[in-house]
Amino acid sequence: MLNDIKQSSLNIGTLGHIDHGKTSLVRVLTNVWTDRHSESLKRNMTIKLGYADAIIKKCPNCEGPGAYTVNDKCSGCDGTPEPFMRISILDAPGHETLMATAIAGANIINGILFVIAANEACPMQQTKEHLMIINLLGLKNVIVVQSKIDIVGKAKAIEHYKQIKEFIKGSVIEDAPIVPVMTNRNINIDVLLSLIVNMKKPETAPDADPLMYVARSFDINRPGATVGEMKGGVIGGTLVRGSFKVGDEIEIRPGIKTESNSKKETYKPAITVITEISNGTEKLEKALPGGLIGLSTEIDPYFTKADGLVGNVVGHPGKLPDVITSMSVAYHSLNRQDIQEKGFAENEPLLLSVGTLTVVGYIKKAKKSKLELDLRHPICAEQGMKMAVMRNMGQRWRLTGYATMH
Ligand code: ZN
Repeated sequence: MLNDIKQSSLNIGTLGHIDHGKTSLVRVLTNVWTDRHSESLKRNMTIKLGYADAIIKKCPNCEGPGAYTVNDKCSGCDGTPEPFMRISILDAPGHETLMATAIAGANIINGILFVIAANEACPMQQTKEHLMIINLLGLKNVIVVQSKIDIVGKAKAIEHYKQIKEFIKGSVIEDAPIVPVMTNRNINIDVLLSLIVNMKKPETAPDADPLMYVARSFDINRPGATVGEMKGGVIGGTLVRGSFKVGDEIEIRPGIKTESNSKKETYKPAITVITEISNGTEKLEKALPGGLIGLSTEIDPYFTKADGLVGNVVGHPGKLPDVITSMSVAYHSLNRQDIQEKGFAENEPLLLSVGTLTVVGYIKKAKKSKLELDLRHPICAEQGMKMAVMRNMGQRWRLTGYATMH
């Protein structure tokens, strides 16, 4: 139980049309705006997951959905709710980035809040594309959040609810709960929280060889720190299986760049020791899957500064997937309405997002949907991993589909 509060046990992603109220929903659940990365994301198509934690509390005096809150006081009885569960909400701004994140993060994200606003007819084009992603990835742990019901009034909200029901009919989320909410007046947030705490938790296999995706890395030293004061580099990310404890020897793959030219980059795995584990505010004895955790290490902070190690994976030495520079994938088009997709050409570059890494791959051979790719940047990937595929169209990267490594 204690660990359920210190460390997140669920990573929840958000999907939904761009103006449908995802940010204000996340704000109500966590008191944090998650769109802080939006500026850097507009410039290039890079996956930078925004994590925002929420501590869901439960009132000891109340029963049912009304017992759950993120506030310090129970609205039902004025009692003091107690911390019950920590969750992490993963968000990404923009329509294409959001979809790419959902695909690339398929094995990081455990559940989805699918936000659909009541003040527009359902489905809007982006909403349709998001349901397609949910269907393709077979995501079943989904709660549909009907937002902005305060704008439309009761009759319209009921009509819109029926539109949602009709829209999801026949999809993998046909039976998903639909919760109408008013974020600005805190209405039905308790019902949403009660559904979140009952979401199916991932099987975390605590005894498996650990695998962590690095989503952040930094240098925590103040400028001008002396050698004696220097602290080792810190890496932050999400464990998808297994566990780490302080003192563990770890390997980071593909690791540190040793050589780089126009054709190729060479990397060397880094081996180090975990000197401290943190959830961002408190120290942890052990790291388990869920949320964003920080590992302090003995790596030279020169390599970890400014997200230098993002996209790496971390595990116990010798127990990580192989580092590869070429791979075969099966490509699946999203058949997006506004994109005219042509056949693949030899040497065409593709932007691939997998886990927390975005890399360029060149097509060596294309046979229908089977692609053989050469990677400029080596990656540490496993069979069956799903990656978002972006193609260069008119000077822009557009998300056109996803690929499965085989
Ligand atoms: Zn109460």
